[in-house]
Amino acid sequence: MFKKLAFTQRRFLNMSLDSSKLVINKTTTPKTKLPNDELVFGKSFTDHILEVEWTAQEGWGTPKISPYHNLSLDPSAVVFHYSFELFEGLKAYKDDNGDARLFRINKNMERMSKSANAIDLPAFDKEELAKLIGKYVEVEKDFIPKGNGYSLYLRPTMIGTTPSLGVATPDKALIFVIASPVGPYYKTGFKAVSLQATEDHVRAWPGGSGDKKLGANYAPTIKPQRLAAEKGHQQILWLFGEEGYVTEVGTMNVFFAFQKPNGKKELVTAPLDGTILEGITRDSILELCREKLGDEWEVSERNYTIHDVKKAADEGTLIEAFGSGTAAIVSPVNNIEFRGENIKVPTSEGETGEVTKKVLQWINEIQYGKSQFKNWSTLTKDL
Ligand SMILES: *Cc1c(COP(=O)(O)O)cnc(C)c1O
Repeated sequence: MFKKLAFTQRRFLNMSLDSSKLVINKTTTPKTKLPNDELVFGKSFTDHILEVEWTAQEGWGTPKISPYHNLSLDPSAVVFHYSFELFEGLKAYKDDNGDARLFRINKNMERMSKSANAIDLPAFDKEELAKLIGKYVEVEKDFIPKGNGYSLYLRPTMIGTTPSLGVATPDKALIFVIASPVGPYYKTGFKAVSLQATEDHVRAWPGGSGDKKLGANYAPTIKPQRLAAEKGHQQILWLFGEEGYVTEVGTMNVFFAFQKPNGKKELVTAPLDGTILEGITRDSILELCREKLGDEWEVSERNYTIHDVKKAADEGTLIEAFGSGTAAIVSPVNNIEFRGENIKVPTSEGETGEVTKKVLQWINEIQYGKSQFKNWSTLTKDL
């Protein structure tokens, strides 16, 4: 009985996040905005930071937008020792009317709350956080660069801040959001990448945390990535199990297209079985392709292996492959090194395949408000 009450109380406090309490303190020393051709991903930031603190006693505090600043934390804060950290990545786009738009932010909020739940950080009201992010984007609107491929990358983050070396559920936490103006991933059109399929390192496993956006999942992937780069490959193709299931590429989901014996074509990506990060781009591609590719195509979420890919390449039934994620939307693949051999992946349109190209265009048009699809694009002023 007592335990149940405590739980209810904790839930109530956690849902106390209230966007109407937002306090905005604007900078008196605005930064000069970089010209579009000088934007480097995640290197320059806007004038402000959005922050909300949480304590187990008080729940969520007053949300604040204030001048961009360093964080001050006790060196014992649990984030530094036990990786109580999770993040999101999404972008704000400027449409032809000069209004700011977000793409499926509700999906980011859902995923963020699953990540928080996985490491016992507090729950929050997802709609309220989306509203706060909308208000933050409105404050930073002049930092959203104009033009196709240009956007403001948003990084919502939650950390455990309890000053203690005890390994336990944090009783203090902080949500913060920072923003970086970014340019198109491919400045001069598509550039297909070469992958190294690795059996020495495993990114995610059933029952693990690889299906959540936790900071702890990423540091261990950097060294294998560097070693692959030293061999001339841009990304790692992560496999799982003795069967060699294809899971993801770098920090993107991955799709392969095959010609099937029944005359149809099949676009395939791995199912969300705990080894796959639930990409919002992945989900969007599945929905759009199911709706728009036509009868010639089947769209599947199913397991497939690197051996299936190699066999299809050998038999001439491999059509194309691409990674998917917020940063690039899609990233075409032209080669996979596996056990010292190169599997050539066709790119029917020079640096890219046909589906890859279509998907990029469809998603781009929705993100910039040029076409509507299922209310996926929202004006921040309407949030
Ligand atoms: C963020 C991420 C993705 C892509 O997710 P999007 O929501 O499409 O940006 C895919 N895989 C991993 C491991 C990721 O961290």
